[in-house]
Amino acid sequence: MAHSRRELIGGIGLGLALAGAGAPAAFGATRRIGYAVVGLGSYATRQIMPNFAGCETARLVALVSGTPAKLDQYGAQYNIPKTHRYSYADFDRIRDNPDIDAVYIILPNSMHAEYSIRAAQAGKHVMCEKPMAVSVAECQAMIAASRKAGKKLMIGYRSRFEQYNRLAIDLARSGHVGPTRLITAEHGFPAQPGIWRLDRPMSGGGSLMDIGIYSLNAARYLTGEEPVEVSAVDSTDRNDPRFKTVEDRITFMLRFPSGIVANCVSSYSSSHNGYRVIGTQGYIDMEPATPYQGQSMSIRKDGVTAPRVLPAAPKTQFAGQLDHLAECILADTTPIVAGEEGLADMRAIEAIYRSAAERRAVAIRA
Ligand code: NDP
Repeated sequence: MAHSRRELIGGIGLGLALAGAGAPAAFGATRRIGYAVVGLGSYATRQIMPNFAGCETARLVALVSGTPAKLDQYGAQYNIPKTHRYSYADFDRIRDNPDIDAVYIILPNSMHAEYSIRAAQAGKHVMCEKPMAVSVAECQAMIAASRKAGKKLMIGYRSRFEQYNRLAIDLARSGHVGPTRLITAEHGFPAQPGIWRLDRPMSGGGSLMDIGIYSLNAARYLTGEEPVEVSAVDSTDRNDPRFKTVEDRITFMLRFPSGIVANCVSSYSSSHNGYRVIGTQGYIDMEPATPYQGQSMSIRKDGVTAPRVLPAAPKTQFAGQLDHLAECILADTTPIVAGEEGLADMRAIEAIYRSAAERRAVAIRA
């Protein structure tokens, strides 16, 4: 039996509200939202593009690249016709392609703002990778551009569509191990020399912009609060040729309005991926917490530690993220990780850098 548009949209909204993003849409999709992927690098080609296959509401319809050979290769692999393949020079022509509803920006950080704004001006919804941009001012300009165009803007915070992280949020915020007192969050990997991530004009910053942002974002989503103050220490070895223009290690302590404190690690010279939410009756442990797959959770409560294992998720976090923006477009709702979420992280990042540079606690103001 055919469902009316109202029922379908209501169903999608209800499905999200009840089961959260990542769950199958309750009544199936009205139509699939077409995405253009911009920047055919490692993350786009290895994680995002293959995961359209598991989407219910999103589909890949166009590619944008500065490398013609990649357009040929991935165009053929994903059946993208030549009319739907673009260079950066002719990017603005996406305006004339009605198959493209949304644009997914997966470029080096310093290019996020320009391409997000151009996409909005071309009348397209935008998914932009983290970090949203390289400054608060750029994030604000992106939000303004999307608002002016009447289009959605979402940031690629994939962990919000991953079931263990979603459970950790529920458990932490509901006080499963008692009210949260402290959070520790650590993210890092050894950076290889020569990559754009180590070139400040391209990256906007070092480990914090790239990987430490997961510690920051987790502290914010696990508390559901905005930090009001930060104290940070930059312990980068400036004799290491990798760290001439960006930081390696930066450690920061965030203070939240309820009194929760988060101790966070960001590193480009050691491997970390985990967080722990410590409450008055125990803790929730996630290690690894934010990999592409293989999250592991254990909970210690009232003196007993036990692993928490969930059944396999119906969708990957990537498919859940892609479908979420598509569902928000169809239902005209706001993504759970809209541009304001990226802006909040960027405000904290600027305060973290200022605190480390000035060697003092710095207030974070909305
Ligand atoms: P890559 O270096 O692998 O890819 C970036 C692509 O951008 C290049 O392949 C190139 O594609 C395009 N590009 C355009 N101009 C330049 C330029 N001047 N220098 C370098 N590349 C250029 O980076 P990643 O895929 O690892 O990262 C891209 C973005 O995705 C970053 O913002 C990063 O933070 C984010 N990311 C997010 C992850 C997540 O888990 N959410 C994981 C990894 C990355 P082309 O040849 O097609 O033009």
